[in-house]
Amino acid sequence: MNKDCIFCRIISGEFQSDILYQDDEVIALRDINPKAPTHILIMPKAHIPSLAEITMDHQTLMGHLVRVAGELAKSEGIAARGYRLVINSGPDSGQEVPHLHLHLLGGRQLGKLG
Ligand code: 5GP
Ligand code: ZN
Repeated sequence: MNKDCIFCRIISGEFQSDILYQDDEVIALRDINPKAPTHILIMPKAHIPSLAEITMDHQTLMGHLVRVAGELAKSEGIAARGYRLVINSGPDSGQEVPHLHLHLLGGRQLGKLG
């Protein structure tokens, strides 16, 4: 828990959010400013700032996050047509919230990267 982190404050229940899934390690919520018809953020409950802090100890957690994202894609009905998982990390990526999160985007043609 980082008291200066918006996502930690959502995870602690201090701030309201549209939570779709949670377990002991992971939580998923709808992005407040969606860039696609489905735009869900999947994140660890632990405050890990970015991919730069990921170590061997986080390998199971990273798989867990990707699995939950895949399950949400199915429950959102976007798995068949396809979707995109994005992790921004650091200033050049435009990462705004320094609490590691996956973006699950789908429900429209997403276009090419770059
Ligand atoms: P980043 O740029 O760090 O990869 O993505 C941060 C995302 O968090 C943005 O898509 C932004 O809309 C979303 N976001 C920022 N503040 C909140 C919030 O308070 N609640 C929710 N649900 N999403 C947020
Ligand atoms: Zn945090």
